[in-house]
Amino acid sequence: MNDRVFKHFALSSDDPRWSDWKWQYAHRITDVKTLSDTITLSDAEERAIERCLDDFRMAITPYFASLINPDDPTCPIRQQVVPSISETDYSPDESDDPLDEEAHSPTESLVHRYPDRVLFLVTRHCASYCRFCIRKRHVGEEDFVISPTEIDRAIKYIREHSEIRDVLISGGDPLTLVDDDLENIIARVRAINHVEIIRIGTRVPAFLPMRIDDKLLTMLRKYHPLYINAHFNHVAELTAEARRACTAIVDAGIPLGNQSVLLRGVNDNSTTMRELMLKLVQTRVRPYYLYQCDLCKGCSHFRTTVQTGIEIIRNLTGNISGLAVPQYVIDAPQGGGKIPINPEYLLSIDDQQVEMLNFEGQLYHYPQPTSAGLA
Ligand SMILES: *Cc1c(COP(=O)(O)O)cnc(C)c1O
Ligand code: SF4
Repeated sequence: MNDRVFKHFALSSDDPRWSDWKWQYAHRITDVKTLSDTITLSDAEERAIERCLDDFRMAITPYFASLINPDDPTCPIRQQVVPSISETDYSPDESDDPLDEEAHSPTESLVHRYPDRVLFLVTRHCASYCRFCIRKRHVGEEDFVISPTEIDRAIKYIREHSEIRDVLISGGDPLTLVDDDLENIIARVRAINHVEIIRIGTRVPAFLPMRIDDKLLTMLRKYHPLYINAHFNHVAELTAEARRACTAIVDAGIPLGNQSVLLRGVNDNSTTMRELMLKLVQTRVRPYYLYQCDLCKGCSHFRTTVQTGIEIIRNLTGNISGLAVPQYVIDAPQGGGKIPINPEYLLSIDDQQVEMLNFEGQLYHYPQPTSAGLA
């Protein structure tokens, strides 16, 4: 708990303003001066942060800032939202659009990369900005608001493509929209007959849990089958308030998943990841993907080797509930799409038998059915 945040805003945690999401959103920490009032920064750090903000804006909800250890630069909460000078080191492998989303965009706000589903980017605002965001090329442009014409174009495209059965509403963060604007979009997607499921991708349960209120959930539950994927990277984000938000979502009949990003110095070891995954399932949140960090500009300090990710998944698999183990994926550069990466359990396979290792590293054989390969 970072008391300096409460001191800065001159309120206590039981002040009704604290639990009002619009107050939280309006009082996000966006400049170095306010930040330095709430966490300890050296002069050099202040200058470095100023430089980073020229490239990618900062915003931190007072709520999320209150979770930062103000004196620890390695705090896992801090590293995700407070700029570091390493962001200004671009590696030649990195780009503004590492997944080549623009090349798969039939309209400005849609990405149609997979046969039966589209990503619909409905806003460029987020409750707070992750320093490792893959969509830095437009996320954070808070002057930009998606135009009614663009919404019309996107809806028209989805309507005219009957192969689209799954619409993933993302951004930015869709839950930063006010209920009416969000409902306008969801209702129009739901009205398209061939759209079977709607998904929302959001980091609001972590950054702004007070946004998840009865009014929002009453609206969302009209549009079932609707799924939400949250984004928690560290168990310290699963506060009582965040867990209340997750529970309310699940109680509204909305299956809730989680996507995490593997981040060096934040969650790149088995113990930290295990704690996060176990706490998620205790909160009825189903781990979905663990992403290898993408090649977004200024993210090299967050990247781990792929071996690190494989080892973490190997340590989780079999040792904790299968329900708590996410699929590790690399979203391939240049728009290759998500590729599942798994520890190797299969040693050999032929028409007679399969040789394989179990989670404890012991060798097992599975005989193939006798007719296999004989025809
Ligand atoms: C991740 C992603 C999806 C959804 O993929 P799932 O594997 O179905 O969760 C859809 N479109 C794009 C462009 C994506 O990046
Ligand atoms: S919440 Fe998502 S879109 Fe927003 S900054 Fe973080 S990763 Fe990017």
